[in-house]
Amino acid sequence: MFPFAPPAIRRLNEAGLAVVVVSNQSGVARGYFPESLVLEVNELMKSALAKEGAHLDGIYYCPHGSADGCDCRKPNIGMMQRAERDLGLQASGSYVVGDRYGDMEMAFRAGAHAILVRSGYGLGEWMWHRQEWPRQPAFVAEDLAGAVDWILEQKQ
Ligand SMILES: [Zn+2]
Repeated sequence: MFPFAPPAIRRLNEAGLAVVVVSNQSGVARGYFPESLVLEVNELMKSALAKEGAHLDGIYYCPHGSADGCDCRKPNIGMMQRAERDLGLQASGSYVVGDRYGDMEMAFRAGAHAILVRSGYGLGEWMWHRQEWPRQPAFVAEDLAGAVDWILEQKQ
């Protein structure tokens, strides 16, 4: 976890916004690692956040591969729809922060605001692929902290 992540998530918590993590874990379908490892990593993420007074309202992952035709693998919006049902949230008008174009695409499909971060894979995505994108993110941030700044500004 990037060191700036827990304080950024805590700021969202304090603003009363629900924070949900959605990830593609096709390594499960491909046999690279067992599903139990995903659960273990999620627990580590939760405890690292808890140490800094931050929490997630939900964690969803898609264990399928691209050939499985599931509705949860990003850019499909199945995980956002599950969060809507489980947590009483509204995906449309929400904010999706991600470092891949697939995250932006999921946001567009759900009617959410797409925010690309240039940390992680995001810098390469932004530098080399943005010309090919049919639609640009609503905002490009250096990292999660910058994304949270922007979200909280929009919410004022
Ligand atoms: Zn899936």
